[in-house]
Amino acid sequence: MNKVLDVNGLKVTFKSFDGDVQAVRGLDFYLNEKETLAIVGESGSGKSVTSQSIMRLISSPPGIVEGSIMFEEKDLNEVSEKEMESIRGKEISMIFQDPMTSLNPTMRIGRQITEGLIKHQNMTKKEAFNRALQLLKLVGIPDSEERIHQYAHQFSGGMRQRVVIAIALACNPKILVADEPTTALDVTIQAQILELMKDLQQKTGTSIILITHDLGVVAKAASRVAVMYSGKIVETGTVDEIFYEPKHPYTWGLLGSMPKLDGSKELLNAIPGTPPDLANPPKGCPFVTRCPYAMNICEERNPEYTTISDTHKSACWLQERLAPDVEPPQDIFIRREDHAR
Ligand code: SF4
Repeated sequence: MNKVLDVNGLKVTFKSFDGDVQAVRGLDFYLNEKETLAIVGESGSGKSVTSQSIMRLISSPPGIVEGSIMFEEKDLNEVSEKEMESIRGKEISMIFQDPMTSLNPTMRIGRQITEGLIKHQNMTKKEAFNRALQLLKLVGIPDSEERIHQYAHQFSGGMRQRVVIAIALACNPKILVADEPTTALDVTIQAQILELMKDLQQKTGTSIILITHDLGVVAKAASRVAVMYSGKIVETGTVDEIFYEPKHPYTWGLLGSMPKLDGSKELLNAIPGTPPDLANPPKGCPFVTRCPYAMNICEERNPEYTTISDTHKSACWLQERLAPDVEPPQDIFIRREDHAR
């Protein structure tokens, strides 16, 4: 499979009065053609900062972005702002979490869709209008001939997110970065939007980076997963590897905190403790203060990745040959299919 994006050594640091906050601390990952890669982790793990770095939306100062973000033999971290403007929205698009804040309340939604088409595709106003109508139909907006003249406040939350998806897909981007696209929506609408994104991906061949904290969303929509903690990827693998053969205690904690859908009324498991202060990150494993399996070495040295398969790797000392044999808690192996429905 061909890679459409190849990220190496990505670091993002923010200057602050409390010192340098190392929000992203050396990420390596790639995105294949026509696949959906989910980047999953709790708030503050660096997921959104990663997606904003790909779009070159981190303002400097206070942000400093290092490393390479290769897209079609160009390093997005190096290209001029003018070139980035021609890539952003055309080759790589983004869907943000809250559709109300990503749509302009003072512009009719038709104009918001045609703007990119006129700028990036050199369409006339008439051509862009017709394409906007097509896109609204594609994302399932009924009465699109009438709705195209309306404003964002005249749409429900789910319909607004459909409009945002229409804008993002307007120029047939090669990559769609979706940052928590369903978090602001209720569960039924969330399922519809994920289904719509899957369907559109099959029609357009777009590759998707899906940023989420919700493993239920991952089960429904992704083919590969990168689990982030404290600015690092601690485990990555196919969806099956992460759900059925997880190796990292943080992944075990995330899986254990998913609600069971078998009708049991048990309390949800939470991962105790809080993530480390990224203005002063620990020298060893960042999960050490919350990990029930922590060993002396975990405080001293950050673990390297262990390769488990061609697609699966984990950064944990438990994968070392001389480490104690620790089995994951059995109750984390809930049926992924329950959540994929
Ligand atoms: Fe836990 Fe140590 Fe593995 Fe970190 S390296 S996750 S502290 S066992």
